Amino acid sequence: MSREQLVVERARRAFQTGMSKPLKFRVHQLKNLHRFITERHKDIADAVKKDLNKTEHSTELFETLGLEGEIDVAVERLAEWAAPRPVEKSLLTILDEVYIQPEPLGVVLIIGAWNYPWAVTLQPLVAAIAAGNAAVVKPSEVSSHSAKVMEELLPLYLDKELYPVVCGGVSETQELLRQRFDHIFYTGNSTVGKLVMEAAARHLTPVTLELGGKSPCYIDKDVDLRVACRRITWGKFVNCGQTCIAPDYILCEPSIQNRVVEEIRKCITEFYTDDPKTFEDYGRIINQRHFQRVMSLLEGSTVAIGGDSDQSQCYIAPTVLKDVTGGSKVMQEEIFGPVLPIVTVSGVDEAIQFINEREKPLALYVFSPDNKLIRRVIAETSSGALVANDCLVHFTVNTLPFGGVGNSGMGRYHSQHGFDQLSHLRACLIKKLNMEDANAMRYPPHTAKKLGWARFFFLKRVNLRRLRRMALLALLSALAAFIVQRYLR
Ligand code: NAD
Repeated sequence: MSREQLVVERARRAFQTGMSKPLKFRVHQLKNLHRFITERHKDIADAVKKDLNKTEHSTELFETLGLEGEIDVAVERLAEWAAPRPVEKSLLTILDEVYIQPEPLGVVLIIGAWNYPWAVTLQPLVAAIAAGNAAVVKPSEVSSHSAKVMEELLPLYLDKELYPVVCGGVSETQELLRQRFDHIFYTGNSTVGKLVMEAAARHLTPVTLELGGKSPCYIDKDVDLRVACRRITWGKFVNCGQTCIAPDYILCEPSIQNRVVEEIRKCITEFYTDDPKTFEDYGRIINQRHFQRVMSLLEGSTVAIGGDSDQSQCYIAPTVLKDVTGGSKVMQEEIFGPVLPIVTVSGVDEAIQFINEREKPLALYVFSPDNKLIRRVIAETSSGALVANDCLVHFTVNTLPFGGVGNSGMGRYHSQHGFDQLSHLRACLIKKLNMEDANAMRYPPHTAKKLGWARFFFLKRVNLRRLRRMALLALLSALAAFIVQRYLR
């Protein structure tokens, strides 16, 4: 029996004891996870520094702050999320209990990516714990320092059997994928996403795939370019462009292209100084393979800003490319690095057409003062999320579902969306054994009269809430009439 098989079996046995189900237990584990993040903040920040050259403050801002918030909301709202959810009744079910009961799925496999090694691995874990599941956590081997800290320290805080951490590369992940899970939550690229889905299909296991792709950013010529470019520069170059929802490329009219370049140049200097390479808050590409991949995307394009690099440090300067065409090399795959191409289009019509000719993106950004133009982009395109006049920030709004559509993924999480994603929403109908005569219409022989009654009960859409309100009103009127009659006359 392989180590992975053993771990999954142990998690399943622990789940079958029922220990992960009581809300008190779930809250306790969530609070322990919170304690892990705050008590071990230094270990986490050191690991991320080694993996991605992020400062302690940016690790807190982009990794652990969101996690803490996610845990706080789950602890506060868990009882409400896990409670039975009554649904609207019909004439047929007027006397019954009809509700949805969220219940745990079982053992969840969480496969994380390296670019935000803590956020994208532990946020699904928050949802898995809240929903009452066991979860096997597989951090990315690419962010090896973070993976090691997670493997060593997390078991000191969480139940070891229910929430084990398994480290390893492709072969270990593939061995995990051979096991039977009740849900697989994968974050990473879409090529591996397809392998995950294939493996899941063998056991009919449902999947959540948090993938990436090219997220477009349309800039309307009438927008305040200073503000727009400031927000775009931030969203693109944070974490050295290695953000799944980073604006991948800009679409704008030729008349504003040079001004866009100049505004972005100013922002790069403001955020990262004249020499980003020596600036401590500018990240590095995760490894040599990705460094070479990103550098090769520059081939054949005109560099307007940056373009310099240092392979020994996996450093690539914040780079902007101009006059890029849809057929250029840089437009064939997700960039996932600090390179921002500008593709010129004749206006919003061509921008919409350009977007719709490609895979559905994880995020779509539009900068415009014109509300009608924004609504039009929403109505005529599709993407995991749409943000107008900003970048990335929808990730922090935990009441919004986070996830992709089409090639950018399936399923969603964050807050209650994550809880629901990792729960089975069970349909519950509880009838009484009395009133048997009311059921006569369904029993043979099936006569025309019975069918008439069945049509009435099935098809008549009676608004019971309105009916109840009317009954209450009638009761109050009768009471008022009685009081007037008895005491005021
Ligand atoms: P990665 O290389 O860390 O791979 C992700 C996981 O897949 C790892 O745990 C790895 O062990 C596993 N894996 C890799 N190859 C495998 C194989 N052949 N078989 C089975 N498992 C395998 O990360 P990545 O894919 O380079 O991550 C970057 C991608 O992830 C980008 O496309 C990015 O947009 C996307 N991403 C999406 C989100 C989101 O929330 N939607 C978040 C972060 C990253």
